[in-house]
Amino acid sequence: MARSTVRAVLLGAPGSGKGTQAELLARSLEIPAISTGEMLRLAVSQGTELGDRVKGTMASGGLVDDGLMSEVVRERLTLDDARGGFLLDGYPRTIQQAATLDSLLERDGGALNAVVLLEVPEGVLVRRAVARRRADDREEVVRERLRVYHEKTEPLVEHYERRGLLRRVDGNREIGDVTAGILVALRG
Ligand code: ADP
Repeated sequence: MARSTVRAVLLGAPGSGKGTQAELLARSLEIPAISTGEMLRLAVSQGTELGDRVKGTMASGGLVDDGLMSEVVRERLTLDDARGGFLLDGYPRTIQQAATLDSLLERDGGALNAVVLLEVPEGVLVRRAVARRRADDREEVVRERLRVYHEKTEPLVEHYERRGLLRRVDGNREIGDVTAGILVALRG
């Protein structure tokens, strides 16, 4: 039997494990994990025009402009490998981005079919992020990213809940158990 196409968003605070899970799930489901954070970090490290434009914002823990992000995501979703499904990690992060995503997907007839929220207690998030030591993982930047998450991204939880797309998964477990939990949630 053909597996149904997964067009899903992973939602969760910085440090909730979205990136790790997106990679593992992508391998198991054979669909691309599309991480906007990774795409932007690559652009910064390669010194592209995009990279130069987003560098400062990323370093301060702020959000890159919605218009710029919509270009990045539009280009990525039109690549061939996203035709059979995808996991989005780090996008959308604002209500405006959610609306943009809907219209991008509507254009090629494949609406989202699940939004997985990885739930992890706040204290665990800060500990994980500071232990990770990425350039934007200094404690005050981590706290700023969490603040921005609560202000701008958390409203998406209710937004997708109202649409019946939200699946909550306990992210405060062993990596493999979280992956298994997400796979169950995607089937449900
Ligand atoms: P984390 O998973 O730790 O939250 P990401 O790797 O997803 O971090 O993103 C790192 C940074 O890249 C963000 O703090 C932000 O500055 C920028 N960024 C990534 N995705 C988006 C987006 N959808 N909208 C705006 N900025 C973004």
